[in-house]
Amino acid sequence: MPNIADSPASTPPADEIASPASPSRHGGLLVKIETDRRLGHEWDEWNGQPLANGGDFRTTAGKFFLFTAVGLTAIVVTSAAGIFLLAPRLAQLADWLPRALYLTDAGLALAGFIWLALIGVSYATNRALLPGRFAERGLLLKTLRLASRVGEMFGVQRDWTDNAAIAVYNRLAWAREWRVRANEMLILIPRCLSRTALEGVMDIAKRYDVATFVATRGAYARQAIRERRPKAVVAVACERDMVSGLHDVAGRLPVLGLTMQLPNGPCKDASLDLAEMEAFVRKYLR
Ligand code: SF4
Repeated sequence: MPNIADSPASTPPADEIASPASPSRHGGLLVKIETDRRLGHEWDEWNGQPLANGGDFRTTAGKFFLFTAVGLTAIVVTSAAGIFLLAPRLAQLADWLPRALYLTDAGLALAGFIWLALIGVSYATNRALLPGRFAERGLLLKTLRLASRVGEMFGVQRDWTDNAAIAVYNRLAWAREWRVRANEMLILIPRCLSRTALEGVMDIAKRYDVATFVATRGAYARQAIRERRPKAVVAVACERDMVSGLHDVAGRLPVLGLTMQLPNGPCKDASLDLAEMEAFVRKYLR
């Protein structure tokens, strides 16, 4: 039987209890809003309106590559502008200093774009062309937030870019061979799954005899990983939580991340693709 653990969150901290969960009064009328929704901090700024595209942010990987390229270009151009502005002062220190800094900036730009091109080729060919620490277990994790921030500057809601980034991450993680026994794997799920989704996940966990942990907060997910020491993890979360989790954990152990759909808004009644979930579990099992 799968081992089902719950996070130690029987008394949730105050910062987990979001304001839309409270009744409030307006002009003598008692307005009761969403008493059973507890927002994760990633959704603090949610305005209560339905999410774009019914909370389904599945998209192509292009947004990740586009916004990462724009972000790298912005960093290089800003650095070059800074060197240009400081050049007279730098030249007083040493004649060769501005030129050396321009060359360093150009070299880093070249390395950055070669790296992004190799990630693109790895993605397109399903092959792990770079060592893990230069790809999904290292450098790629550092660019996930860069891409979503640049996307937001262009008016693209971060969930779309995060979804694209996770798709790239998963493709690269999938390209590596890594097999573990069932008792060495951990399935991490959030507290916001719908009943149908939860039953589907538990059915998969039972069939493959894999331990499952319901993580009410990212901190508890990391704690579960520290304590259980799995050799592979299949994690389920919304795009925002997934990017945070991958950033914290994927450098240390193999993780495949399945994003969810949020038809009723964040942190409640989430659904997922159970066939993809099962494929992720099977991918890591011997
Ligand atoms: S995984 Fe679920 S509970 Fe956690 S922040 Fe995302 S939508 Fe909210």
